[in-house]
Amino acid sequence: MIGCDCDVCRSPDPRDQRLRSSIYIETPECSWVVDTGTDFRTQALRENIRNVDAVIFTHSHTDHIMGFDDLRRFSHARGSMPVYASAETMRDLERVFQFAFNPSNAAPYYLKPEPHIIDGPFKLGETLITPLPVPHGDSIVNGYLFSRACACLRNTDSQSVRPTEFHSGESKIPDKMSGGRTGQEACVPDTYEKLVAYLSDCSAVPDTIVDLIAGVKVLIIDALRDRPHPTHLSVGQALEVAALVKPDATYFTHLCHDLPQSAESQLPKGVRIAYDGLQLTI
Ligand SMILES: [Zn+2]
Ligand SMILES: [Zn+2]
Ligand SMILES: [Zn+2]
Repeated sequence: MIGCDCDVCRSPDPRDQRLRSSIYIETPECSWVVDTGTDFRTQALRENIRNVDAVIFTHSHTDHIMGFDDLRRFSHARGSMPVYASAETMRDLERVFQFAFNPSNAAPYYLKPEPHIIDGPFKLGETLITPLPVPHGDSIVNGYLFSRACACLRNTDSQSVRPTEFHSGESKIPDKMSGGRTGQEACVPDTYEKLVAYLSDCSAVPDTIVDLIAGVKVLIIDALRDRPHPTHLSVGQALEVAALVKPDATYFTHLCHDLPQSAESQLPKGVRIAYDGLQLTI
């Protein structure tokens, strides 16, 4: 935190130096980023990100959108940048980044967003993405569940296959997935494996969402600090959700400087504190 001399801000453990919350997902077909916070450029340079086929937004708070324009590097390479967001978040993006959404935006290196309003599950490549509407203080924001067909997973070596083809949201989604306005009405077909649930900003996780993500391999969940907060889960609340979801592994994210990396040693088995640059292969 700017101008702070607390133990975490002065910690010698590099994992205590944290930028804004975001994840980058690479699949055999395509790659995308969830949120482009203020630090997106720094993060993309640090991780040597060479390919972004789409961006998915959780909500429009500044710590999740202010790096949006730095997608121009990837947008130019593709010709446009598919942007997936709820109608409310898209409205905010269009207002804040009017210069990019403006149809008369003709400068070749400008970001050219291609808006896709999320009103139910959709696919990027072979990954099924189910929105998870959760309360974040007084607002409702989206988390996401990422699932893939079991057979596809068995046949794929994600380390060696390069992205070759990108399918946009028009990809065929199994019949029972379509038509659901929100993740609350959605379900994941039995043939799909729930791989990652990402809930970066939430103050509660409704039972319907817990049911939807139950048994997911990796749960990445908001755990701001030990003390309660009006718009974020505390460590205790996040542990309660994890106990209901029963993932193989849980990672805490969106941490504030009240919570040192060393607190991980006091957490139950299978629960970790995520850190910048953490990579998971699933
Ligand atoms: Zn501090
Ligand atoms: Zn937020
Ligand atoms: Zn946030």
